[in-house]
Amino acid sequence: MVKNTLKIIFHLYLCLKEKLMNYEDVIKNIYGELKSYWGKGKVADYIPALAEVNPRQYGIAIETLEGQSFQVGDAEIRFSAQSISKVFTLAMVTRHLGDEIWKYVGREPSGNPFNSLVQLEYEHGIPRNPFINAGALVVTDRLMSLYDRPKDAILDFVRKISGNDDIYYDKHIARSEREHADRNMALGYFMKSFGNIEHDVEAVIDVYCHQCAISMSCVDLSRAFLFLVNHGKNPFHQEQVLTTSQSKRLGALMLTCGFYDESGDFAFRAGLPGKSGVGGGVVAYIPGNLAITVWSPELNCHGNSLIGMETLERFTTDIGNSIF
Ligand code: GLN
Repeated sequence: MVKNTLKIIFHLYLCLKEKLMNYEDVIKNIYGELKSYWGKGKVADYIPALAEVNPRQYGIAIETLEGQSFQVGDAEIRFSAQSISKVFTLAMVTRHLGDEIWKYVGREPSGNPFNSLVQLEYEHGIPRNPFINAGALVVTDRLMSLYDRPKDAILDFVRKISGNDDIYYDKHIARSEREHADRNMALGYFMKSFGNIEHDVEAVIDVYCHQCAISMSCVDLSRAFLFLVNHGKNPFHQEQVLTTSQSKRLGALMLTCGFYDESGDFAFRAGLPGKSGVGGGVVAYIPGNLAITVWSPELNCHGNSLIGMETLERFTTDIGNSIF
């Protein structure tokens, strides 16, 4: 009896210790070491406005469910969320459509770059997953059927889940992407020819370019992901954004597809569900515990932040915790 009680107390102590861990030193050390990696990657330039960003920036922000915040470097500077926004639109659509969304988009890793066209033809216009561009365009198209003012709805959703009303689209980046969207337009028209896009392709691309141009800091993004850390429930106002099961599925998709043809490698290195964007942001989370965002604009050859990927591998290694 006494032995069992002691065992339970020790277990609770370990859980609490893990949850209230001081991550300050961990991220400061990583930041200090990885700053020397500046210059190893390359800022995205196929969207000209992204090429204007100073490459030598690096920030890390952790938000825990217990309400702790840890930051280092450029954690409060806003940057372009880009493909990280695909998680938000998928959550919004899943909320309304539930499993019906899987009629329009698959849920298998593609093993191809984020903007690839190759699988679409032999898979009859059904993209492999919602995180490659083709899949995200289908999700945005669905979202446009659900909301009269989809761009406003996306901003409202992001403001709500991050607890920050001061989040906006960067119009300069949205316009720049819109003017250089030939490949995404090709994806849109191709899928439309299979009947998998309902709206006018130009209109879909316009909403998509805006969602990608949401301007958020590492702190904002970590806070925005806390509802997934909390199994679907927003910790700020206790709203159930997704069911526990939907939240599990979103996490599973991030683990298997969140980094395109580098998804397996990210799972191998960091052991966390996560999502990257060509703006240089990477968000990842430990369910029930914390969300962490790293931002550094220089990308590796897969279009993922070079320092971001390295930071997250070191983080889970140093704290000895991941989802595995
Ligand atoms: N807006 C970008 C695009 O469509 C998003 C890609 C990304 O972040 N990987 O190319």
